[in-house]
Amino acid sequence: MRVLVMADIHGNLEALRAVLDHARQMGGFGRVWCMGDVVGYGPDPGPCVDMVEELSSTCVAGNHDWAAVGKVDTRDFNPHAAAAIAWTDAQLTPGQREYLSSLPLTLQEEGATLVHGSLRDPIWEYLVDTGAARATFDLCQTPLCLVGHSHMPFVCTQGEGFRRVRGEGDGVALGPARLILNPGSVGQPRDGDPRASYMLLDIVAQAAYHYRVAYAIGETQGKMERAGLPRPLIDRLSQGW
Ligand code: ZN
Repeated sequence: MRVLVMADIHGNLEALRAVLDHARQMGGFGRVWCMGDVVGYGPDPGPCVDMVEELSSTCVAGNHDWAAVGKVDTRDFNPHAAAAIAWTDAQLTPGQREYLSSLPLTLQEEGATLVHGSLRDPIWEYLVDTGAARATFDLCQTPLCLVGHSHMPFVCTQGEGFRRVRGEGDGVALGPARLILNPGSVGQPRDGDPRASYMLLDIVAQAAYHYRVAYAIGETQGKMERAGLPRPLIDRLSQGW
């Protein structure tokens, strides 16, 4: 079985479509696992929720997903992120709100645990250092943990630490070592590469592959301008930060 693994779509429909097209070209996928933040920042929150739902994705909640439906407050958000959440809130239909509200904090699937941030703080902690990684390994009951939130694609091997992955099908064996993987962000990459980021997992071959996909950034930015979303959020898409 092959699984499309993605996170941090952030209302960027062009990036999401590009990832789905690319994954189909790479041999396709039978399942979709999403580590949250379907909405927030981007100009198409509703269509992205619909698409994630239509794919029958296994999806956990991100901080932006719950902020957009008022389930957590935006006190810790920077002013631009908070402005985008207020805008997003007004775009969602009752059905889309219900979907986001119902997302769980963690899920287990086929030997993997999905969480947005970390297992000790599922929607807020950025898992980017060895202390946070150790705490999540301690709490994780499966060989593999899949996270998002930092928008930084990486492989973290228990006992060895973090390794950046750089797309082009960069691969990693699933096991025997326990792993934490972050596929990077579909809709707002922050590692200096503006292309959409995701992973494909081959459960039979026990391997994960990381890819980067170019998409029509200008189209997304044009929609953001017309929606009146904050300028820094528009500019950062072409910078990949
Ligand atoms: Zn995010």
